[in-house]
Amino acid sequence: MKNNAASFIAKSTIKAADLEHRRKINFNIGKYNAVVPQGKKQFSNIMLAREKAKNRKWEAIEHLDKYLEEFEKKITARGAKVIWAENTEQALEEIGRICKEKNCKTLVKSKSMVTEEIHLNAFLESVGIESVETDLGEYIQQLDGEPPYHIVTPAMHKSKEDVARLFADKLGTPSGLTPEELTQVARKILRDKYVQAEVGVTGANFIVADIGGIAVTENEGNARLSCAWPKTHIVVVGIEKMIPSIDDLPLFWPLLSTYGTGQQITVYNTIVSGPKQENETDGPEEMYVILLDNGRTRLLANPISREALYCIRCGACLNACPVYKNIGGHAYETTYSGPIGKVITPYLSGMEEYKHLSYASSLCGNCTEVCPVRINLHELLLDNRHEAVMQGSSNIAERIAWKIWKTASLNRSMMNMGNGKMKNWVVNKVFKGWTTHRSDLDFSGKTFNAQWREKHGS
Ligand code: SF4
Repeated sequence: MKNNAASFIAKSTIKAADLEHRRKINFNIGKYNAVVPQGKKQFSNIMLAREKAKNRKWEAIEHLDKYLEEFEKKITARGAKVIWAENTEQALEEIGRICKEKNCKTLVKSKSMVTEEIHLNAFLESVGIESVETDLGEYIQQLDGEPPYHIVTPAMHKSKEDVARLFADKLGTPSGLTPEELTQVARKILRDKYVQAEVGVTGANFIVADIGGIAVTENEGNARLSCAWPKTHIVVVGIEKMIPSIDDLPLFWPLLSTYGTGQQITVYNTIVSGPKQENETDGPEEMYVILLDNGRTRLLANPISREALYCIRCGACLNACPVYKNIGGHAYETTYSGPIGKVITPYLSGMEEYKHLSYASSLCGNCTEVCPVRINLHELLLDNRHEAVMQGSSNIAERIAWKIWKTASLNRSMMNMGNGKMKNWVVNKVFKGWTTHRSDLDFSGKTFNAQWREKHGS
């Protein structure tokens, strides 16, 4: 079995020392940091907006069952078909079945992290369907055979020169094209694919209960083309994307834009509430919405960690995280990286396999500080550590070591036993893991009590 923790540490160690990688990330995050304050100016009271957003997500998640059923009822009445998928296998089986029915050879896909989560492209390839990413960043990543690097900006780790080299290598374009020229190349290729595709797949930024619709936010218009051009539209969406009402969108759309990219509002915001109706000229003939659980109800069952389901996937916590900025998005080897990835992945993919991620944090709280829906991310990381221990995911040596540490820390006479040298030896040699990525601990030669007596004479 793959040792995820060892692989994470190995990849992180390499990336943290890669100065060119750090330069590119700092450059791109620096641009993001420069524009976010501009976006925030549109809110007269940004903290109030964030609190309100948190309250609305609380409402949606606390009554998720009710809102999911309301959504299903409304969108079904307009001719869409809702499919409930408990896990990846069920979601893929349903997508495979629909594609087979439609005799699908080519499928266009807009950017969607949930389809990354279920590894949709690999599945489609295995059944002989060409799946084409239509978001430019995702298209670049697909060309390069890499997963997205960031939940909002999939090719954030690539410079414009890297992309020009990739296009020259994979598509035979002249070397050194400008970003505008590269965009035109991708545009031309993708336009043909929309026309060919029998099926279009999108995610959803929000599921809107009261109107029975999904809301999609994007800057390129590719999601609109993916859902409107092919005859069949499949939406794959995690159940936590729920918001109670269309009246919540005027709050969530600008929040997502501001914290995602620093824009006041994203270029295209689309609501889809069913397939083409009798009196309509545009849109797909059929629409399916796959509501995916895949571990989300495990999060829901935990009254503390549940608030991680409020996430609107803006990516702000990744950009703010000192760990992410050093090791990048791929070292995690998970669909969702950065602070939010570290919180939710153990629930989505297994505590035992991914508990190590909760330790990859300085607990500085920067993620919590920037989150637009005010998720207590750093505290949830601590809770994950606690949860892992409660589930028995800690080894016996670790448990004994911490028991000794706790007993000694609570007992002044034990703390006073031995000198600094001996304590250094115990901590630095016996607790081996501590010093692998840290400098040795250096205890004072004299105990606190001895120093106090020297200073105060009693
Ligand atoms: S946890 Fe908060 S900051 Fe991070 S992606 Fe989700 S909404 Fe954005």
